[in-house]
Amino acid sequence: MSAAEPASKAASDAIGHLIHGKSAMGGSRHAPVYNPANGQIQRQVALADGTTVDAAIAAAAAAFPGWRDAPPLKRARIMFRFKELLEANEDRIVAILTAEHGKVLEDARGELQRGIENVEYACGAPELLKGEHSKNVGQAIDSWSEMQPLGVVAGITPFNFPAMVPLWMYPIALVCGNTFVLKPSERDPSAALLVAELLHEAGLPDGVLNVVNGDKEAVDVLLQDQRVQAVSFVGSTPVAEHIYRTGTAHGKRVQALGGAKNHAVVMPDADVGNAASALMGAAYGSCGERCMAISVVVAVGDDTGDALVSDLQQRLQRLAVGPGTEPGSEMGPLITREHEHKVRAYVDLGVAEGAELVVDGRGLKVPGHEQGFFLGACLFDRVTADMRLYNEEIFGPVLCVVRAGNLQEAMDLVDAHEYGNGTCIFTRDGEAARYFSDNIKAGMVGINVPLPVPVAYHSFGGWKRSLFGDLYAYGPDAVRFYTRRKTITQRWPSGDVRENSRFAFPSNS
Ligand code: NAD
Repeated sequence: MSAAEPASKAASDAIGHLIHGKSAMGGSRHAPVYNPANGQIQRQVALADGTTVDAAIAAAAAAFPGWRDAPPLKRARIMFRFKELLEANEDRIVAILTAEHGKVLEDARGELQRGIENVEYACGAPELLKGEHSKNVGQAIDSWSEMQPLGVVAGITPFNFPAMVPLWMYPIALVCGNTFVLKPSERDPSAALLVAELLHEAGLPDGVLNVVNGDKEAVDVLLQDQRVQAVSFVGSTPVAEHIYRTGTAHGKRVQALGGAKNHAVVMPDADVGNAASALMGAAYGSCGERCMAISVVVAVGDDTGDALVSDLQQRLQRLAVGPGTEPGSEMGPLITREHEHKVRAYVDLGVAEGAELVVDGRGLKVPGHEQGFFLGACLFDRVTADMRLYNEEIFGPVLCVVRAGNLQEAMDLVDAHEYGNGTCIFTRDGEAARYFSDNIKAGMVGINVPLPVPVAYHSFGGWKRSLFGDLYAYGPDAVRFYTRRKTITQRWPSGDVRENSRFAFPSNS
């Protein structure tokens, strides 16, 4: 049962929405939420219909005037309390993340911590919103720029970071004075709801943040409603493109972050052991379900390729795959049976396309969890750029090794790829590293750092078809995205001086 099912069959304790500070039901359709480690349906989630989404937008619109006028320091103080509540509830949130997503507990803890760092950044709202002031731009004329909030903003988030990605968006949107409607992934919705409830416990006024669970039906209402001023989206590229095109066609500001195929280039001078160790976590952590996961290694030189493949092969024999709750598990299951089948099909395809399957995880059995959505780690060697295995985002525990003759050939591969989210280089050569970071066509670059996910006070985004829009997520770009600039020019004539009309364009000449 993977498709939405009628309400009559849905469990009575379905996961609902959070509208105007209250739990709410709404929508006649439901979808199952699984525990990926055992394949069991845990609960049903209500899929919001137009009326429910309309109520959430109305709550956000009604809350906007009061929230816009609240001093930024007061908004920031709520974020300080929110951070404390997130830390106090860490175990609860982490348990939900692992139960619904499947990632191992330690990984879930890392996700939440990265989310909290965005709340910490948002605590700096009074500083972030100070604007700019210029005295005497003309004789006795002063000018300043303010960053004003947009109004109601919507956020649509993916399944793979159910706590962190919402926290990329609304803490900063809210401290900028906006109100918000969040539509989390329907596949693992509970963490986002709990986190939103904690923000209310921290003192957020009702209506400022609303959460609607749902699918395309809910998203399409958000994209078309005139009260929604801007949309932040994170998810797959086809949906990101749809969101960007539809949202902008309806006059909204849109940032839509999409999929990825992140390449790691390993140079002949690199420490292969260190590179392989780093690549294990970057490729197979969270079962490869990260938009920054390394899914392609470009080995420069055949000796590098041989040494790397042999090292990875040995390490993969020791990789502990099991339920995320089990101590010692390093890699959990995939999110759904449907996704597991999709990833398996890519492994079959890679074999058919002629790539060399060095480690085959398709036969993996996790005792006691036979119904879980597990797939063992897979490693392909001698993958080439004409293969679908290479070109398409798989989003699973499948690492492809491609061989290149030199650095330029490796960089040409990265640059020619449709996606340009993250990339990294392993080398001891500073000149090569500098040439790589100066010229590579990707938004986030690591030098001996396999997952160069920017910290909260920088911003996150890719190039090419990994991002539709102009501004990155979180950090300084988010302050720009969630505000619109107003520049005020002011003059107070002194005394009763009367001036003649001037028809020349005002200037300081
Ligand atoms: P997805 O695109 O299927 O879903 C993302 C969101 O869009 C969900 O809330 C979903 O309900 C909604 N949605 C799905 N189909 C829709 C449609 N046709 N119309 C409107 N809304 C729709 O993505 P996912 O499977 O949840 O997440 C995995 C994808 O997200 C991967 O491609 C991954 O690379 C990407 N991702 C990107 C980043 C990034 O920062 N670039 C971060 C995390 C994940």
